[in-house]
Amino acid sequence: MPTSIELRTAYQQFFIEKGHAPIPSASLVPADDPTVLFTTAGMHPLVPYLLGEPHPAGARLVNVQKCVRTGDIDAIGDDTHLTFFEMLGNWSLGDYFRDEAIRWSFEFLTARLELSTDRLGVTCFAGDDVVPRDSDSAALWQELGIRRVQYLGRDDNWWGPAGATGPCGPDTEIFYWIDASTPPARLDVRDRRWVEIWNNVFMGYTKTASGAIVPLARVNVDTGMGLERTLVALNGLGSVYEVDTVAPLYRELAPITPSERALRILSDHVRALCFMIGDGVAPSNKDRGYIVRRLLRRCLLAARGMPNEWPRRAVAKTVEMLAEPYPELARQADDIAGVFEDERQRFERSLAHGEKLVRGIARLDGKIAFDLFQTHGIPYEVTLELAHDAGATIDRDDFERELSRHREASRTTGSFAGGLADHSTEIVRYHTLTHMLHAALRDVLGTHVIQRGSNITLERLRFDFSHPHKPTEEQLARVEATVNDWLARDLVVERATMTRDDAHALGAIGAFGEKYGETVSVYTIRDGDTVVSREFCGGPHVQSARELTGTFRIAREQAIAAGIRRIKAVLMPTGESG
Ligand code: ATP
Ligand code: MG
Repeated sequence: MPTSIELRTAYQQFFIEKGHAPIPSASLVPADDPTVLFTTAGMHPLVPYLLGEPHPAGARLVNVQKCVRTGDIDAIGDDTHLTFFEMLGNWSLGDYFRDEAIRWSFEFLTARLELSTDRLGVTCFAGDDVVPRDSDSAALWQELGIRRVQYLGRDDNWWGPAGATGPCGPDTEIFYWIDASTPPARLDVRDRRWVEIWNNVFMGYTKTASGAIVPLARVNVDTGMGLERTLVALNGLGSVYEVDTVAPLYRELAPITPSERALRILSDHVRALCFMIGDGVAPSNKDRGYIVRRLLRRCLLAARGMPNEWPRRAVAKTVEMLAEPYPELARQADDIAGVFEDERQRFERSLAHGEKLVRGIARLDGKIAFDLFQTHGIPYEVTLELAHDAGATIDRDDFERELSRHREASRTTGSFAGGLADHSTEIVRYHTLTHMLHAALRDVLGTHVIQRGSNITLERLRFDFSHPHKPTEEQLARVEATVNDWLARDLVVERATMTRDDAHALGAIGAFGEKYGETVSVYTIRDGDTVVSREFCGGPHVQSARELTGTFRIAREQAIAAGIRRIKAVLMPTGESG
C-alpha cells in the first residue's frame, strides 16, 4: 500500500531523473495577486514564468503544491473533491513539449507506479474552427498502448489564457477506473468511477489583444496530478477519505456525527482550515477571511455539544498526518487551535442571537439572512441549517440579491473570481515600489525592519513589516521623501539568478518565514553604483524606475499585531494631490 510520503518522493524523484529542478510549494495565499483568493494549482505561482520571465531554477521544474479550490466547496462530500488538496506538478518553460510530457506521464503511471494500462483512459482536444484537433496527442497515447482515447471540445480540453491574453492551448486528461469492477471498453467522463487523476496542458498558442489565437514560438507544458486521487487509484480505495492524509482525521472526528456526508465535510474543512490559518488567514467577514469563517463555523455547528477540546485534538491529528512534508504546520499547531477556540466563543454568542431571531418565523426573507451574516457573521449555510432546525425556509435568491446590493454599495466585491493573475502594468509597478518602500523603511527605521506580508491591488500597495513601535510622523515623511527621491532618479532594476548562499552573501533580503529554493532570483535596484535595494524575488518588475511616474504617498500606517506594522500606500499620478 504506497503511502502519500512514498508518492510525493517517487514523483519528484522521477522528474528529477528527467532533468527537473524541485521547487518548494508556494503559500496558499497568492503573493501580490489580487485576482484569486487562494493558490488553486501548481501553475498558479508560476504564471510570470509561463509568460516568459526566466525561472531561477531553470526550464524544467517539479513540485508538490498546496492548493485550495473554493469553487469545489459545494462538491465536498463526493469521493474525489477536497477543498484542500496537494497537486504534483511538472513544467517545461520553453523546453520539452507534448511528446516528452505524454511519454513521461505514461512511464510514471505504468512503469513507476505500476498502474494497469487497462484501467486508464485519456481525453484529447477535438479541435474547432480556430485550432485543429490534437491528433498528435491521441496518436501518441495509442502508440503507448492506451485503448481509450476520447476527443472532447473546448469546454473540457482547452486551457487558458490566464488573463484576457497570453499563453493557452489544448490539454490531455488522464482518467483511472477506480471501481472494483472490470472497466468498460469506453471512457465516459460523466461516469464518477472514471476519475481524472492528471492533466497535461500544452501551451502552444497565445491569445492576442485582437482575440486571435496564434501558435507560439516558445511553448510550455504545465501538468497537475492530484496526490489524493492518485493514492485512491494506487491503493484501490473507495474515496479520498481513505487516503493516509485524510483517514486518521476522519476517524478522529467520527464520534462527532453519525452522518457520513457530515463527517466527510468536517474532515475536509478541518484539513483546509489548518492550512489556510497556517498560511496566515484569520476569520473575518471579507474575502479569504470569510472563507475561513464559513468553513470553521460550519464545523463548529456540526460539532455543537461536543467537548470544547475537539478542535485541539483534530488540529493535532492533522499535524500528525502532514507534518513530515509541511513542518511549518507542527510549529503552528497551538496558534491554529487558538484560532478555532476564539472563533468558537465568538460563534456561540452570535448563534444564540441567531436562534432567537429565527425562532417562530416560518419563512426568512433575504434581509434577515443577510443581517445575520452582516451583523453577526453567521454564514448563509449556517442560517440555512438554523432555519432548517426551526422548521423555516429561506429564499436563497433573495439573500443573494441582498448580498450583491450590499457589495455594490460598499464596493467590497473582493476577489471572488476563480481566474488567474492579471499581471497588469499597475501591479508590476506596485511590486517594484514595494521593494523601494522596504528599502526606505530600513534606511529610516533601521535594518530590523523586515517584510512580514504584502498585498497589491490595482489601486494601492499594502506592506506589513516588523517594527516595535509606531513610527513618528517625521519618520514616515522621510520614508515618503526617500522613495520619491528614488522615483525622480534614473534607477535601474536588474534581475540575476544565483545560489541562495551567494544571494545571502550579497546581502539580499527576503520576507520573514519565506522559503527559498537552492537557486534563487534576486532583484537589485541601483542608483548608478549604489545599491538601493536587493531582494529575493520572483518578479515581475519594471525594468527602469522611469516606468514609475507619479508621487509616492503613505495613505495609512497602523499596528496589526504586536511588533508588526502595516502601511498602505499609493502612487499618485503627477498633478493629483490628496
Ligand atoms: P475535476 O473536473 O475532477 O474537478 P479539474 O478538471 O478541476 O478536476 P484540474 O484543474 O485539471 O482538475 O487539476 C489537476 C488535477 O488536480 C486533477 O487531475 C485532479 O487530480 C486534481 N484535483 C483537481 N481538483 C481537485 C479537488 N478538488 N480535490 C482533489 N484533487 C483535485
Ligand atoms: Mg480537468
